[in-house]
Amino acid sequence: MSALLAEQPVLHESLRIAGEKVSRDRVIEVRHPYTGELVATVPKATLADVQRALKIAREYRAKLTRHERYRILMKAGEIVAARRDQIARLITLESGLCLKDTQYEVGRASDVLLFAANQSLVDDGQVFSCDLTAHGKSRKVYTLKEPLLGAITAITPFNHPLNQVIHKVAPAVATNNRVVLKPSEKTPLAAYALADILYEAGLPPEMLSVVTGDPREIADEMLTSDAVDLVTFTGGVAIGKYIAAKAAYKRQVLELGGNDPIIVMEDADIDEAATLAAAGSYKNSGQRCTAVKRMLVHEAVADRFVELLVEKTKAVKYGDPLDPKTDMGTVIDEPAAKLFESRVNEAIAQGAKLLAGNVRRGALYSPTVLDNVRPEMTVVREETFGPVSPVIRFKDFEDAMRIANGTAFGLSSAICTNRLDYITRAVQELNVGTVNVREVPGYRLEMTPFGGIKDSGLGYKEGVLEAMKSFCNTKTYSLPW
Ligand code: NAD
Repeated sequence: MSALLAEQPVLHESLRIAGEKVSRDRVIEVRHPYTGELVATVPKATLADVQRALKIAREYRAKLTRHERYRILMKAGEIVAARRDQIARLITLESGLCLKDTQYEVGRASDVLLFAANQSLVDDGQVFSCDLTAHGKSRKVYTLKEPLLGAITAITPFNHPLNQVIHKVAPAVATNNRVVLKPSEKTPLAAYALADILYEAGLPPEMLSVVTGDPREIADEMLTSDAVDLVTFTGGVAIGKYIAAKAAYKRQVLELGGNDPIIVMEDADIDEAATLAAAGSYKNSGQRCTAVKRMLVHEAVADRFVELLVEKTKAVKYGDPLDPKTDMGTVIDEPAAKLFESRVNEAIAQGAKLLAGNVRRGALYSPTVLDNVRPEMTVVREETFGPVSPVIRFKDFEDAMRIANGTAFGLSSAICTNRLDYITRAVQELNVGTVNVREVPGYRLEMTPFGGIKDSGLGYKEGVLEAMKSFCNTKTYSLPW
């Protein structure tokens, strides 16, 4: 037995059906991507398990006061913060993300809980006086936010095993909704840990169930059951569009893939731009929907930018995710690493220039810089969900906008410039959900509206406030006044 397993016995997880721990003979193995060692097993839920979880969620009427919701979310946030290192290690074991990344993620997750707790105290009603026009009346119309009648189905991806889950569960708790969550079968452990923390913090168990399993067996039930009113999904475009078609007449919040550019204009601070580009490209092993996936650089400054980018890329310490000094761990698995390698090799064969990286060992893929990339190459036309920095050189601002808008995606973007004319035009002309000036595309608060357009999403947003809105029905009532 290796040192890793000696330190951490294999965990045999159970489903959480309204808090009840249920084990099943059929299991999914969770292996540490860096060594391939078995970290845990999680049950494969049966269709009947999922139906039971959905029925409980559908029938339960949560009656928590705003104060009670606040207390539960605050307490959960405190527990998450206090157990930061333990939870970060669990995420590192299941995902191969390095400890620096997973500790950061746990910090973000406790912020989400804090914001949701505070937001549950804010009154969300509106009042309309009715004597506003000549044919008005002496009445007032009031609005009231109510939780959904049915359950919420939440389905999450592998790349932020805790934060993606918390962005769906915390707003649901803050609005008295009931959730059945299916985390990614690649990284299911953080979701189970979070459910236990919420129960410990006082959440009525009927408000949250967690199921894992084979999506081919259980996903359709979660999308089509009469017990479900809303599907909130974060993941890739292919499954997002499948859900859009399958979950007919259900409210849908779809947060899908991205292909975000960082645009470097000729007046930019090139050192700052290269620092942002490298951080945006390699953080979380490049596996963020808002990672920098294309670097669009004005030809007048491209040589200097590339030189600095290569320097910063070579300084990234990648390797053992459990070593606290590591800056970048593995990607999710070997097939993902092989895909990046093959896309980079294809680009090189088509004329791109490899300046750093493209070294693979199992699921470990080095930070990689490619220059002279053209927009039609697969590595930038498709979403390359790993630590690859493809540089595309452009001539002028119009050229940059055309290339930036030239993919199927529209999630986020960044522009490095101090010129107000470039800034205002970029904000107006980029077809995306977010434009960050002199920041990475991924910059946000857990509270701010977040989400994309085109293939990146339907335009319905996440972020604590927006999620709370989408998880409620608005009722109006009026009184004589
Ligand atoms: P994925 O689409 O492969 O899987 C996401 C989830 O869908 C998993 O839980 C999976 O089990 C589930 N699933 C599989 N088949 C299903 C089916 N038939 N019906 C319903 N659910 C099914 O995504 P992934 O590989 O885990 O994550 C990476 C993708 O997520 C990238 O494209 C990334 O850009 C995207 N992402 C988007 C955002 C955002 O907010 N826009 C954030 C993070 C990640």
